[in-house]
Amino acid sequence: MKITNSCRKMKLPNGKVVDILSTVFEEINKWLQDSDEKTEAGGYVVGYQHCGTKNITLEYISHPYMLDNRRRFFFVMRDPRHKIFLLNNMRKKSFYMGVWHTHPQIIPEPSSIDWKDWYETLEVDKTGCEYVFFVIAGVKEIRVWVGDFKSKNIIEIFECAHSEGIYKVYEEKEYGRKKEQTEDTRVCET
Ligand SMILES: [Zn+2]
Repeated sequence: MKITNSCRKMKLPNGKVVDILSTVFEEINKWLQDSDEKTEAGGYVVGYQHCGTKNITLEYISHPYMLDNRRRFFFVMRDPRHKIFLLNNMRKKSFYMGVWHTHPQIIPEPSSIDWKDWYETLEVDKTGCEYVFFVIAGVKEIRVWVGDFKSKNIIEIFECAHSEGIYKVYEEKEYGRKKEQTEDTRVCET
């Protein structure tokens, strides 16, 4: 998927939809490795699941801080501010949903270390829904994978069918429900 600054809908393995809000892309855009000296960036992704529809919204990400370990082909979150970001968002009912990082590739490919990390994450982490999201932003494209806590599978997800920026399949069906979705429909973390 081309890197953008607007909201995107992607189809989940269970047929539901994940909305990735423009706030996520706007932040990721600031950290792309689009020149030789730029090091990897990354952080946590937070969001929530809608009670009624079971669709998911990813709304904010944490970004690199001073104490993170950043190199051209390497990023490790070490700065305590990432955890503080999670705690602050949890108070606003936006929960840990996954991680993101950049690659200095036009179209990002997960490394063997990424796959290893992701499978470990799937064993130990818990999110606000049945999936954990893994996002990699290359220079031009962004790719998203979901880990399923039940099946322990990790698969790539793709943007919903659309034409000229309008998502045909989902808009009609969900429009009525969407109007009702307010802050208090967010699912509490268990
Ligand atoms: Zn990577």
